Amino acid sequence: MTKKELTLEIIERLKKEYPDADCTLDYDQAWKLLVSVRLAAQCTDARVNVVVEGLYEKYPDVNALADAPVEEIEKIVKPCGLGHSKARDISGCMKILRDQYGGKVPNDFDALLKLPGVGRKSANLIMGDVFGKPAIVTDTHCIRLVNRMGLVDNIKDPKKVEMALWKLVPPEEGNNFCHRLVNHGRDVCTARTKPYCDRCCLKDICKKNGV
Ligand code: SF4
Repeated sequence: MTKKELTLEIIERLKKEYPDADCTLDYDQAWKLLVSVRLAAQCTDARVNVVVEGLYEKYPDVNALADAPVEEIEKIVKPCGLGHSKARDISGCMKILRDQYGGKVPNDFDALLKLPGVGRKSANLIMGDVFGKPAIVTDTHCIRLVNRMGLVDNIKDPKKVEMALWKLVPPEEGNNFCHRLVNHGRDVCTARTKPYCDRCCLKDICKKNGV
């Protein structure tokens, strides 16, 4: 099987396994996803979902958050870790949305990348989830799994993994494929030394499992 064929087969099997794959960060407006992805660095999505409730209760829109003192934001987001830098980035982002984009999140990958604290992973997530555009989100699960599966060969750098996957994954499949990798990485192909290969839907085609 070529890498491309293997990729397509994995995509189909994971679709069956996780038909409802979606982002596990809660949000009902694009700017809230921008806040949550920044908070999610080195923090679980579950914790972020709790912390943002308090944040939005106090600062319910872009303008309110843009006007909020960084120290006040920091007090609320501290449980997510890296409180100061996350608060500073969130404040900076909201000010830019307010001042340059009429309070909206820009529908443009390069514009997103220029926002404080937004890297390729976050920009891809927003392009895919908010705007329904092709996206490859190379988070820790994605990088671990595609290496194990044999879609990439010992590549750990997120941007290099992303570029390799763009050549293999049909653009319209990328966003949901990455969500499903997160599901699979949490439930089955865990970060443990020995993932649960015995109950994996990919065990007969996965490189790590000896195929
Ligand atoms: S067979 Fe094992 S290593 Fe491969 S994807 Fe499944 S759980 Fe991960």
